[in-house]
Amino acid sequence: MAKLIYLTALGRSGSTVFERYAAMNLDIFALGEMTYAIERGIIENERCGCGVPFGECDFWKKFRELLERRFSAEEIRLLAIEQRRAESTLGFYLLRYKRVSSILDRYYQLQAEFIRSLPHEYAFDTSKRPVRPILLKRYLKQDEIQIVELVREPAAVAYSWTKSKVRVESTTGASATMPAVGYYKSVARWINVAIVSSRIRKRIANTVLIKYEDFVMNPDSAIAVLKAKPSSKGVDSAERYHPVSGNPSRFEPMKISPDIRWVTEVSPIKKIVTNVLTAPFKLLYRV
Ligand SMILES: [Zn+2]
Repeated sequence: MAKLIYLTALGRSGSTVFERYAAMNLDIFALGEMTYAIERGIIENERCGCGVPFGECDFWKKFRELLERRFSAEEIRLLAIEQRRAESTLGFYLLRYKRVSSILDRYYQLQAEFIRSLPHEYAFDTSKRPVRPILLKRYLKQDEIQIVELVREPAAVAYSWTKSKVRVESTTGASATMPAVGYYKSVARWINVAIVSSRIRKRIANTVLIKYEDFVMNPDSAIAVLKAKPSSKGVDSAERYHPVSGNPSRFEPMKISPDIRWVTEVSPIKKIVTNVLTAPFKLLYRV
């Protein structure tokens, strides 16, 4: 019976490589961004991290069967929309997480059941959306959920978002690129995630913070803060690796790199402005 480790972060903070490294070395099952299981898995049939399209992955087949037993095709499409609204940070400010429809409530119950049913010590959900754990917590007990807040230098994250990426997991050609986002818009999103994460932390006590830069310097000591045991020798970690969605790097050989191009590419004035804007919010993370 698995417990949940949930990762919150802003995109491009290194969550995909962190998840992969943790799943290789600890008894953790990598679910990836489970929030997209319906949208990018069932509806768009993108490739699972194991390499095959979602609809052909044996692991996700069990999830699909469970879902289709309880919801009609029309309801499943509706769930994708309702879930996105409920888990958005805007939804948090509007207190949408307190007014979840009965159909969406039943879906969170299903997800909690599915996570518990996994024959591993922990399941790792790297959906990143900071609001999602309080919705899952409707059906998970306090000691069944641990939050990892992965935080990366905001200038590095914002610089990364100025570059678009090809989404190699797409099997339909639809939304085949991760579009570029303006630098300061990403700084604002970093601040927003810091604010919402600090509020969620008050509701879920079991929270640890990991700086991406520390993870890169010493990956083993970074993953040591997770409660999971080391994986047994000889166990093929690929069996525990079925992440839905995530950075396209999960289809390439794993590379843990500091990726410091931003240091030379971001102008000094932008760095100063970013530092001034984010300094108060770094206190929320205590970094
Ligand atoms: Zn798979």
